[in-house]
Amino acid sequence: MTDHAMTRSQRVQESLRATAVGRARRRPKTFGEHRVCADEVCRTLLSRYNCEAFCFQHAPARFRRLRGEFTAGYSARQAS
Ligand SMILES: [Zn+2]
Repeated sequence: MTDHAMTRSQRVQESLRATAVGRARRRPKTFGEHRVCADEVCRTLLSRYNCEAFCFQHAPARFRRLRGEFTAGYSARQAS
């Protein structure tokens, strides 16, 4: 029983380490520095890792909806 548990946790650690190494080696995709939000009055500096043209506040609504109560379950309840 104990041996089995140990083997399992070791395997998890190995896979975690492999993932970390893979991530460190791969060069992150960047989208240019010093880009600002595409909103005309907004001057929020965008992260070079942000592939969007807008800052988080001006991002299209589809991103914000995911965090709210507009989920698949919510829609299903409304439909019935
Ligand atoms: Zn903005």
